[in-house]
Amino acid sequence: MNIYFFTFGCKVNLYETENMKELFSEAGYTVSETEQEADIFIINSCTVTENGDKKMKKELRRLKRTYPECIIVLTGCFPQAFYDKAEQIREADIITGTKNRSMLPAIVSNHIKDRKRTVNVSQYNRKEAFESCSNKGYWNNTRAFIKIQDGCGMFCTYCIIPYSRGNFRSKPLDDIIHEAENLAAAGHKELVLTGINLSFYGIDLGKRLVDAVEAVCRINGIERVRLSSIEPEMITYEDIKRFSALEKLCPHFHLSLQSGCDKTLRAMNRHYLSEDYEKLVSALRENFTDCSITTDIMVGFPDETDNDFQQSLDFAKSIGFAKAHIFPYSRRKGTPAAEMPDQISQDIKRRRAAEMEEAMSESREKFLSSQIGKVFPVLFEREKQDGIHNGYTPNYTKVKILTKYSDKSLRNELFYVKIIGTEKDFCIGEIVSNH
Ligand code: SF4
Repeated sequence: MNIYFFTFGCKVNLYETENMKELFSEAGYTVSETEQEADIFIINSCTVTENGDKKMKKELRRLKRTYPECIIVLTGCFPQAFYDKAEQIREADIITGTKNRSMLPAIVSNHIKDRKRTVNVSQYNRKEAFESCSNKGYWNNTRAFIKIQDGCGMFCTYCIIPYSRGNFRSKPLDDIIHEAENLAAAGHKELVLTGINLSFYGIDLGKRLVDAVEAVCRINGIERVRLSSIEPEMITYEDIKRFSALEKLCPHFHLSLQSGCDKTLRAMNRHYLSEDYEKLVSALRENFTDCSITTDIMVGFPDETDNDFQQSLDFAKSIGFAKAHIFPYSRRKGTPAAEMPDQISQDIKRRRAAEMEEAMSESREKFLSSQIGKVFPVLFEREKQDGIHNGYTPNYTKVKILTKYSDKSLRNELFYVKIIGTEKDFCIGEIVSNH
């Protein structure tokens, strides 16, 4: 039977979808490229925003209407965090949470036999172990992901994740090494270590994130290692010193800020202040040449006054981000912030988001211009039909080679490239030599 997957949300969900594809392929199912061929749909849900929930439900309704005979599986964060609501979604024939994914092919096989509706969501306990999962390859991407961490116990007041993913837990180092060796053997040169709260990797194992990074950097065939989003707490100066000794570790850090105003950071239950953030950025820049810092910023958190927003804006401008994702605060039922008085109106949130966006796109332009004249090893990814080669520098600047260089695909190849110009969201380069 043919299965088609829909993924909502973050890199961890994408990793888990890839993992489910492998599990279903091993169980004899065919992963289809298009939804028209599918007999079974798997919706891997995210529940970070209520808007995301609405989109997911709309998609479920559309699928049931268009393919009434198909089996629909709803899995992931939404059923895990909101069991009662998920249970009422009648379009879903099977409902599971974020636990026990390896059982999903068997659950689907049973449903095919008896056609009984199945709801199987088990709750996390505080001392949950990391659920074994490993991917062998990402056929459509040069870059491969390894989920090394799951769960979060920080309880930021706006965030539903601790309720949908449980407490911190980490993949054992030996499993990470084994997975990374398989990915290298499959031809991947670049690995991205990912997790729900990556900075806390190892807290349950007596290890630190840097231990995992050192382990994968030692693997032959892997030429680059990246970190996905990290939280500012837990990264110490000693960690940064150890990170900077690793030639394969890319100097790009997506360091979540959320707000540059200390009053708002406290209300968000973030565990750092703007001064700590600034010191961390300085330490990274001191230790990594051509370091780029990107971030996420939320605007319109409850009780964020004009003055608080101005502080956040001024702080964000002072950092010089290479890129920032701006999110207007979205009220999430089940979190403390949703119950806070002084919610900010949509109009004000929109205005603040636009102001922050404008400032951050100026920062982005400055960053891109500062790359002109530099030479970087670029790992090439997809290639367009018109012969334009696209790739990324170690600091995650997208580079396009506009002049025709070769008729051959450069996909998964490393070349030295000189940056000669910029466009809106990328740099233009020319190839100087082979890596
Ligand atoms: S650190 Fe905060 S925002 Fe990030 S997953 Fe944990 S609770 Fe959510």
